[in-house]
Amino acid sequence: MAEVLVLVDELDGEVKKVTYELLTLARRLGEPSAVVVGAPGTAGKVKDALGAYGAAKVYVAESDDAAGYLVTPKVDVLASLVEQASPAAVLVPASAEGKEVSGRLAIRIGSGLLYDAVDIDADGTTTHSVFGGAYTAKAKSGKGVPVISVRAGSVEPEQADGGAAETAVDVPAVDAAKATRITGTEPVVGGDRPELTEASVVVSGGRGVASAENFNVVEALADALGGAVGASRAAVDSGYYPHQFQVGQTGKTVSPQLYIALGISGAIQHRAGMQTSKTIIAVNKDGEAPIFEIADFGVVGDLFQVAPQLTDEVGKR
Ligand code: FAD
Repeated sequence: MAEVLVLVDELDGEVKKVTYELLTLARRLGEPSAVVVGAPGTAGKVKDALGAYGAAKVYVAESDDAAGYLVTPKVDVLASLVEQASPAAVLVPASAEGKEVSGRLAIRIGSGLLYDAVDIDADGTTTHSVFGGAYTAKAKSGKGVPVISVRAGSVEPEQADGGAAETAVDVPAVDAAKATRITGTEPVVGGDRPELTEASVVVSGGRGVASAENFNVVEALADALGGAVGASRAAVDSGYYPHQFQVGQTGKTVSPQLYIALGISGAIQHRAGMQTSKTIIAVNKDGEAPIFEIADFGVVGDLFQVAPQLTDEVGKR
């Protein structure tokens, strides 16, 4: 069975959920091989978890350069593995870094790039949500080893037995003049909550929340559900919530099991970032708000009455 390379997304030895989703999708195409590019010692921490989601092999590319630079080491390692292993496909998370890795890799190896897929069929056909979610497009690469970037939250990760035998891979030395060095990392605000693009529940607030202080209503519901907090651009531009939590065309793309929109009208640019959520609940006092067109459940009402009641009810269970 052909190998399928999966670029592992991890932070400090903790595997991000999107990696398990990629391994689940990779099993439809062939035998998943996880590719760990990071600091020395990383693979030892993540190997068992990768095996539990079906990685038959773990390629280990560890060095200070691999940990110290964005994008470049990952592209170098994946390009050399494509040459060695002739995989059926390369799967990369459609994160900010992953999108750049996939684009550069496709150019490097002369392959087709399938960008921001939300599903992959066994024959390699990918599904994409395009034009702000207005259309679903199917695509297939006709050139080389397909490089597929996959949106987080697209599938439910499924466990499977894997051998996870380790194979060491060299990381070429990075030319500092041509690469982006990581100079430091800082925990994000609200660090106890799950990361927005990884969370299975997202509760977002819009302009209807009306102030930064009022966002505690959104946060309380998110915390009761163990979810992440998001915001519309209008809420961010009004200074109610930091930009890193913006959902939409010019913010993050999320695809959680449950998305709750509080005081958000549902403009096309917001929908572009949340439309593929599995279940959408909207609370809006305007019954004509466009968000109700895509909501599975809607409450026409005042969010300051509805959200605290929801929070209380969830807290009782
Ligand atoms: P509004 O449209 O003002 O809606 C507020 C809603 O709250 C209304 O429907 C109102 O009925 C309701 N409401 C008010 N008070 C209450 C209450 N007490 N209880 C219940 N409901 C209440 N937007 C994004 O979100 N993300 C993006 O990434 C993004 N990118 C953009 C890129 C471009 C190029 C452009 C042009 C725009 C972009 N926008 C984006 C902006 C987008 O067009 C909308 O302006 C924005 O999404 C509106 O945010 P909102 O729904 O919070 O505000």
